[in-house]
Amino acid sequence: MAEDFDVVIVGGGLAGLTAGMYAARLGLRTMIVEHMAPGGQVLNVEKIENFPGFPQGIAGFDLGPMVQEQAEAAGAQFSMDTATALEVVGDRRVLHCDGADLAGKAIIVAAGSALRSLGIPGEAELLGKGVSHCASCDAPFFVGKDVCVVGGGDSALDEAAVLAASVSRVIVVHRGPAFTRAQHVAVERLQARSNVQTLFETEVVEICGSETVASVRLRTDGATRVQELAGVFIFVGLEPNTAFVRGVVDLDPTGHVIVDAHLQSSVPGVYAAGDIRQGSSGQLVSAAGDGASAAIFAARFLRA
Ligand SMILES: Cc1cc2nc3c(=O)[nH]c(=O)nc-3n(C[C@H](O)[C@H](O)[C@H](O)COP(=O)(O)OP(=O)(O)OC[C@H]3O[C@@H](n4cnc5c(N)ncnc54)[C@H](O)[C@@H]3O)c2cc1C
Repeated sequence: MAEDFDVVIVGGGLAGLTAGMYAARLGLRTMIVEHMAPGGQVLNVEKIENFPGFPQGIAGFDLGPMVQEQAEAAGAQFSMDTATALEVVGDRRVLHCDGADLAGKAIIVAAGSALRSLGIPGEAELLGKGVSHCASCDAPFFVGKDVCVVGGGDSALDEAAVLAASVSRVIVVHRGPAFTRAQHVAVERLQARSNVQTLFETEVVEICGSETVASVRLRTDGATRVQELAGVFIFVGLEPNTAFVRGVVDLDPTGHVIVDAHLQSSVPGVYAAGDIRQGSSGQLVSAAGDGASAAIFAARFLRA
Protein backbone atom coordinates (compact mmCIF):
# COMPACT_ATOMS: atom_id res chain seq x y z
CA MET A 1 0.00 0.00 0.00
CA ALA A 2 1.46 3.34 -1.05
CA GLU A 3 1.87 6.05 1.61
CA ASP A 4 -0.19 9.17 0.76
CA PHE A 5 1.16 12.70 0.32
CA ASP A 6 -0.25 15.91 -1.09
CA VAL A 7 2.71 16.30 -3.42
CA VAL A 8 5.34 13.78 -4.45
CA ILE A 9 8.36 15.19 -6.26
CA VAL A 10 10.71 13.03 -8.31
CA GLY A 11 14.26 14.40 -8.31
CA GLY A 12 16.38 16.26 -5.80
CA GLY A 13 18.13 18.64 -8.19
CA LEU A 14 17.56 22.39 -8.03
CA ALA A 15 14.07 22.06 -9.55
CA GLY A 16 12.92 19.30 -7.19
CA LEU A 17 14.47 20.77 -4.04
CA THR A 18 12.97 24.20 -4.72
CA ALA A 19 9.59 22.63 -5.51
CA GLY A 20 9.85 20.74 -2.21
CA MET A 21 10.66 23.88 -0.26
CA TYR A 22 7.75 25.80 -1.81
CA ALA A 23 5.23 22.96 -1.50
CA ALA A 24 6.10 22.40 2.17
CA ARG A 25 5.93 26.14 2.89
CA LEU A 26 2.47 26.15 1.30
CA GLY A 27 1.42 23.64 3.95
CA LEU A 28 1.38 20.61 1.67
CA ARG A 29 2.52 17.19 2.87
CA THR A 30 5.54 16.84 0.62
CA MET A 31 7.87 13.99 -0.28
CA ILE A 32 10.97 14.29 -2.47
CA VAL A 33 12.27 11.05 -4.04
CA GLU A 34 15.94 11.09 -5.04
CA HIS A 35 18.11 8.12 -5.91
CA MET A 36 21.47 9.82 -5.48
CA ALA A 37 22.78 12.68 -3.36
CA PRO A 38 20.51 15.76 -3.54
CA GLY A 39 21.91 18.50 -5.77
CA GLY A 40 21.49 17.00 -9.23
CA GLN A 41 23.79 17.50 -12.18
CA VAL A 42 25.86 20.28 -10.62
CA LEU A 43 26.90 18.25 -7.62
CA ASN A 44 30.39 17.83 -9.10
CA VAL A 45 30.71 21.30 -10.63
CA GLU A 46 33.51 23.24 -8.97
CA LYS A 47 32.25 26.75 -9.53
CA ILE A 48 28.85 28.04 -10.62
CA GLU A 49 29.16 31.67 -11.60
CA ASN A 50 25.71 32.51 -12.86
CA PHE A 51 23.45 31.67 -9.92
CA PRO A 52 22.05 34.97 -8.57
CA GLY A 53 23.18 35.93 -5.08
CA PHE A 54 26.68 34.46 -5.27
CA PRO A 55 28.92 37.12 -6.85
CA GLN A 56 32.05 35.07 -6.08
CA GLY A 57 30.46 31.90 -7.47
CA ILE A 58 29.47 28.80 -5.53
CA ALA A 59 30.41 25.13 -5.78
CA GLY A 60 27.67 22.72 -6.81
CA PHE A 61 28.42 20.51 -3.81
CA ASP A 62 27.67 23.52 -1.56
CA LEU A 63 24.57 24.80 -3.38
CA GLY A 64 22.66 21.47 -3.44
CA PRO A 65 22.87 20.81 0.33
CA MET A 66 21.95 24.46 1.07
CA VAL A 67 18.68 24.15 -0.85
CA GLN A 68 18.09 20.70 0.64
CA GLU A 69 18.45 22.24 4.11
CA GLN A 70 15.86 24.90 3.21
CA ALA A 71 13.46 22.24 1.89
CA GLU A 72 13.87 20.12 5.04
CA ALA A 73 13.49 23.14 7.32
CA ALA A 74 10.21 23.91 5.54
CA GLY A 75 9.01 20.38 6.29
CA ALA A 76 9.66 18.42 3.09
CA GLN A 77 10.51 14.75 3.60
CA PHE A 78 13.11 12.81 1.62
CA SER A 79 13.10 9.27 0.35
CA MET A 80 16.29 7.77 -1.03
CA ASP A 81 14.70 5.69 -3.77
CA THR A 82 14.35 5.30 -7.53
CA ALA A 83 11.02 6.09 -9.20
CA THR A 84 10.32 3.39 -11.78
CA ALA A 85 6.77 4.11 -13.02
CA LEU A 86 3.84 6.46 -12.62
CA GLU A 87 0.27 5.20 -12.53
CA VAL A 88 -2.91 7.31 -12.41
CA VAL A 89 -5.68 5.63 -10.39
CA GLY A 90 -8.73 7.89 -10.02
CA ASP A 91 -7.57 11.04 -8.27
CA ARG A 92 -4.49 9.28 -6.86
CA ARG A 93 -1.23 9.35 -8.73
CA VAL A 94 0.86 6.39 -7.63
CA LEU A 95 4.60 6.52 -8.02
CA HIS A 96 6.11 3.05 -8.12
CA CYS A 97 9.62 2.98 -6.68
CA ASP A 98 12.30 0.36 -6.20
CA GLY A 99 11.60 0.58 -2.46
CA ALA A 100 8.26 1.87 -1.14
CA ASP A 101 5.54 3.10 -3.52
CA LEU A 102 4.20 6.61 -2.86
CA ALA A 103 0.88 8.23 -3.74
CA GLY A 104 0.43 11.94 -4.39
CA LYS A 105 -2.62 14.08 -5.10
CA ALA A 106 -0.15 15.93 -7.31
CA ILE A 107 3.18 14.81 -8.75
CA ILE A 108 6.05 17.07 -9.80
CA VAL A 109 8.43 15.37 -12.22
CA ALA A 110 11.83 17.03 -11.76
CA ALA A 111 14.12 14.14 -12.67
CA GLY A 112 16.39 16.24 -14.92
CA SER A 113 18.72 14.69 -17.44
CA ALA A 114 21.61 12.28 -17.73
CA LEU A 115 24.79 12.96 -19.68
CA ARG A 116 24.64 11.56 -23.19
CA SER A 117 27.29 9.11 -24.29
CA LEU A 118 29.02 8.96 -27.68
CA GLY A 119 28.14 5.33 -28.38
CA ILE A 120 31.57 4.56 -29.85
CA PRO A 121 33.86 1.53 -29.39
CA GLY A 122 35.91 1.66 -26.18
CA GLU A 123 33.67 4.21 -24.42
CA ALA A 124 31.74 1.85 -22.14
CA GLU A 125 34.70 -0.50 -21.63
CA LEU A 126 37.02 2.33 -20.48
CA LEU A 127 34.49 4.32 -18.42
CA GLY A 128 36.22 5.10 -15.12
CA LYS A 129 39.55 3.99 -16.65
CA GLY A 130 40.28 7.25 -18.43
CA VAL A 131 36.79 7.97 -19.78
CA SER A 132 35.00 10.45 -17.53
CA HIS A 133 32.03 12.84 -17.31
CA CYS A 134 33.44 14.93 -14.45
CA ALA A 135 36.53 17.12 -14.77
CA SER A 136 36.65 18.35 -11.19
CA CYS A 137 36.33 14.77 -9.86
CA ASP A 138 38.97 13.23 -12.10
CA ALA A 139 41.43 16.01 -13.09
CA PRO A 140 43.92 14.99 -10.33
CA PHE A 141 44.42 11.63 -12.09
CA PHE A 142 45.73 13.36 -15.21
CA VAL A 143 48.31 15.81 -13.85
CA GLY A 144 51.10 16.16 -16.42
CA LYS A 145 49.17 14.18 -19.05
CA ASP A 146 47.25 15.02 -22.24
CA VAL A 147 43.46 14.66 -22.28
CA CYS A 148 40.66 15.53 -24.67
CA VAL A 149 37.25 17.06 -24.01
CA VAL A 150 34.49 16.08 -26.43
CA GLY A 151 31.75 18.68 -26.97
CA GLY A 152 31.27 22.35 -27.75
CA GLY A 153 28.67 23.69 -25.31
CA ASP A 154 29.06 25.53 -22.01
CA SER A 155 29.58 22.37 -19.98
CA ALA A 156 32.35 21.12 -22.28
CA LEU A 157 34.20 24.44 -22.24
CA ASP A 158 33.82 24.96 -18.48
CA GLU A 159 35.12 21.48 -17.80
CA ALA A 160 38.00 22.00 -20.26
CA ALA A 161 39.00 25.11 -18.30
CA VAL A 162 38.98 23.10 -15.05
CA LEU A 163 41.19 20.43 -16.64
CA ALA A 164 43.60 22.96 -18.17
CA ALA A 165 44.56 24.08 -14.67
CA SER A 166 46.12 20.70 -13.86
CA VAL A 167 46.79 18.59 -16.95
CA SER A 168 49.55 19.06 -19.50
CA ARG A 169 47.35 19.69 -22.53
CA VAL A 170 43.60 19.72 -23.24
CA ILE A 171 42.42 19.02 -26.78
CA VAL A 172 38.81 20.16 -27.26
CA VAL A 173 37.21 18.08 -30.01
CA HIS A 174 34.04 19.63 -31.44
CA ARG A 175 32.21 18.35 -34.49
CA GLY A 176 30.85 21.83 -35.35
CA PRO A 177 32.76 24.60 -37.13
CA ALA A 178 32.68 26.97 -34.09
CA PHE A 179 31.47 27.19 -30.47
CA THR A 180 28.06 28.58 -31.42
CA ARG A 181 26.20 27.11 -28.42
CA ALA A 182 28.62 28.26 -25.71
CA GLN A 183 28.58 31.54 -23.80
CA HIS A 184 31.09 34.12 -24.95
CA VAL A 185 32.73 34.25 -21.51
CA ALA A 186 33.42 30.49 -21.55
CA VAL A 187 34.99 30.68 -25.03
CA GLU A 188 37.20 33.63 -24.07
CA ARG A 189 38.35 31.92 -20.87
CA LEU A 190 39.38 28.86 -22.82
CA GLN A 191 41.18 30.82 -25.52
CA ALA A 192 43.26 32.53 -22.83
CA ARG A 193 44.76 29.15 -21.87
CA SER A 194 48.04 28.32 -23.60
CA ASN A 195 47.67 24.56 -23.06
CA VAL A 196 44.28 24.23 -24.79
CA GLN A 197 44.07 23.16 -28.42
CA THR A 198 40.79 23.17 -30.35
CA LEU A 199 39.87 20.78 -33.16
CA PHE A 200 36.71 21.86 -35.02
CA GLU A 201 34.75 19.66 -37.44
CA THR A 202 36.38 16.65 -35.85
CA GLU A 203 34.85 13.60 -34.16
CA VAL A 204 36.19 10.98 -31.78
CA VAL A 205 35.26 7.67 -33.42
CA GLU A 206 37.04 5.20 -31.12
CA ILE A 207 38.63 5.17 -27.68
CA CYS A 208 41.58 2.78 -27.49
CA GLY A 209 43.44 1.15 -24.61
CA SER A 210 43.49 -2.14 -22.75
CA GLU A 211 43.62 -1.37 -18.99
CA THR A 212 43.30 2.42 -19.34
CA VAL A 213 42.85 4.94 -22.16
CA ALA A 214 45.95 5.13 -24.38
CA SER A 215 44.67 7.02 -27.43
CA VAL A 216 41.63 8.09 -29.43
CA ARG A 217 40.92 7.76 -33.13
CA LEU A 218 39.87 11.13 -34.58
CA ARG A 219 38.06 11.73 -37.85
CA THR A 220 38.34 15.02 -39.77
CA ASP A 221 37.05 15.40 -43.33
CA GLY A 222 36.65 11.62 -43.65
CA ALA A 223 40.29 10.91 -42.74
CA THR A 224 41.14 9.24 -39.42
CA ARG A 225 44.26 9.49 -37.28
CA VAL A 226 45.35 8.31 -33.85
CA GLN A 227 45.95 10.82 -31.06
CA GLU A 228 47.77 9.53 -27.97
CA LEU A 229 46.33 10.79 -24.68
CA ALA A 230 45.36 9.50 -21.24
CA GLY A 231 41.84 10.81 -20.65
CA VAL A 232 38.61 11.44 -22.54
CA PHE A 233 36.03 13.77 -20.95
CA ILE A 234 32.64 13.60 -22.67
CA PHE A 235 30.09 16.47 -22.57
CA VAL A 236 27.90 16.08 -25.65
CA GLY A 237 24.48 16.95 -24.32
CA LEU A 238 21.86 15.42 -22.11
CA GLU A 239 19.02 12.89 -22.27
CA PRO A 240 15.87 13.62 -20.22
CA ASN A 241 15.22 11.03 -17.48
CA THR A 242 11.64 10.39 -18.59
CA ALA A 243 11.63 6.58 -18.92
CA PHE A 244 9.44 6.21 -15.81
CA VAL A 245 6.66 8.44 -17.19
CA ARG A 246 6.81 7.30 -20.82
CA GLY A 247 3.35 6.23 -21.99
CA VAL A 248 1.65 8.09 -19.12
CA VAL A 249 2.35 11.76 -19.90
CA ASP A 250 2.94 13.14 -23.39
CA LEU A 251 6.58 13.57 -24.37
CA ASP A 252 8.00 15.56 -27.28
CA PRO A 253 10.21 13.88 -29.92
CA THR A 254 13.33 14.55 -27.79
CA GLY A 255 11.75 12.82 -24.77
CA HIS A 256 11.00 15.97 -22.74
CA VAL A 257 7.67 16.31 -20.89
CA ILE A 258 5.23 18.54 -22.77
CA VAL A 259 3.76 21.13 -20.38
CA ASP A 260 1.31 24.02 -20.55
CA ALA A 261 1.93 27.54 -19.25
CA HIS A 262 1.33 26.24 -15.69
CA LEU A 263 3.92 23.49 -16.11
CA GLN A 264 1.13 20.89 -16.10
CA SER A 265 1.65 17.82 -18.27
CA SER A 266 -1.02 16.08 -20.37
CA VAL A 267 -2.20 14.41 -17.12
CA PRO A 268 -4.00 16.81 -14.74
CA GLY A 269 -2.14 17.12 -11.44
CA VAL A 270 1.15 15.92 -12.92
CA TYR A 271 3.65 18.75 -13.39
CA ALA A 272 7.17 18.90 -14.81
CA ALA A 273 9.91 21.28 -13.71
CA GLY A 274 13.50 21.99 -14.71
CA ASP A 275 15.60 20.41 -17.45
CA ILE A 276 13.12 17.58 -17.95
CA ARG A 277 10.37 19.75 -19.38
CA GLN A 278 9.98 20.80 -22.97
CA GLY A 279 11.46 24.23 -23.67
CA SER A 280 13.65 24.44 -20.55
CA SER A 281 16.62 26.79 -20.86
CA GLY A 282 18.79 24.18 -19.13
CA GLN A 283 20.02 26.54 -16.44
CA LEU A 284 20.03 26.20 -12.67
CA VAL A 285 18.18 29.44 -12.01
CA SER A 286 15.36 28.47 -14.36
CA ALA A 287 15.21 24.99 -12.80
CA ALA A 288 14.76 26.64 -9.39
CA GLY A 289 12.14 29.00 -10.86
CA ASP A 290 10.30 26.07 -12.42
CA GLY A 291 10.32 24.24 -9.09
CA ALA A 292 8.71 27.21 -7.35
CA SER A 293 6.12 27.64 -10.12
CA ALA A 294 5.23 23.94 -10.27
CA ALA A 295 4.68 23.82 -6.49
CA ILE A 296 2.46 26.92 -6.56
CA PHE A 297 0.39 25.58 -9.49
CA ALA A 298 0.14 22.15 -7.81
CA ALA A 299 -1.13 23.83 -4.62
CA ARG A 300 -3.78 25.72 -6.64
CA PHE A 301 -4.78 22.44 -8.33
CA LEU A 302 -5.22 20.76 -4.95
CA ARG A 303 -7.26 23.67 -3.55
CA ALA A 304 -9.52 23.62 -6.60
C1 LIG B 1 28.86 19.72 -16.13
C2 LIG B 1 27.69 20.65 -16.01
C3 LIG B 1 27.91 21.97 -15.60
C4 LIG B 1 26.83 22.86 -15.48
N1 LIG B 1 27.07 24.14 -15.07
C5 LIG B 1 26.03 25.01 -14.94
C6 LIG B 1 26.26 26.34 -14.48
O1 LIG B 1 27.39 26.74 -14.19
N2 LIG B 1 25.18 27.15 -14.38
C7 LIG B 1 23.89 26.76 -14.69
O2 LIG B 1 22.97 27.56 -14.57
N3 LIG B 1 23.67 25.50 -15.11
C8 LIG B 1 24.68 24.63 -15.25
N4 LIG B 1 24.46 23.35 -15.69
C9 LIG B 1 23.07 22.97 -16.00
C10 LIG B 1 22.33 22.60 -14.69
O3 LIG B 1 23.07 21.61 -14.04
C11 LIG B 1 20.90 22.13 -14.95
O4 LIG B 1 20.18 23.10 -15.65
C12 LIG B 1 20.19 21.82 -13.62
O5 LIG B 1 20.95 20.92 -12.86
C13 LIG B 1 18.80 21.27 -13.86
O6 LIG B 1 18.24 20.98 -12.62
P1 LIG B 1 17.08 19.90 -12.49
O7 LIG B 1 16.69 19.89 -11.06
O8 LIG B 1 16.05 20.15 -13.51
O9 LIG B 1 17.73 18.50 -12.90
P2 LIG B 1 19.00 17.69 -12.34
O10 LIG B 1 20.04 18.59 -11.81
O11 LIG B 1 19.36 16.77 -13.45
O12 LIG B 1 18.41 16.87 -11.11
C14 LIG B 1 17.55 15.77 -11.32
C15 LIG B 1 17.66 14.83 -10.14
O13 LIG B 1 16.71 13.78 -10.30
C16 LIG B 1 17.29 12.56 -9.88
N5 LIG B 1 16.58 11.46 -10.57
C17 LIG B 1 16.55 11.22 -11.90
N6 LIG B 1 15.78 10.16 -12.17
C18 LIG B 1 15.29 9.72 -10.98
C19 LIG B 1 14.44 8.65 -10.61
N7 LIG B 1 13.86 7.83 -11.52
N8 LIG B 1 14.16 8.47 -9.28
C20 LIG B 1 14.72 9.31 -8.35
N9 LIG B 1 15.54 10.33 -8.65
C21 LIG B 1 15.82 10.55 -9.96
C22 LIG B 1 18.75 12.69 -10.29
O14 LIG B 1 19.58 11.82 -9.51
C23 LIG B 1 19.02 14.16 -10.02
O15 LIG B 1 19.54 14.37 -8.72
C24 LIG B 1 25.50 22.44 -15.80
C25 LIG B 1 25.30 21.10 -16.22
C26 LIG B 1 26.37 20.23 -16.32
C27 LIG B 1 26.13 18.81 -16.76
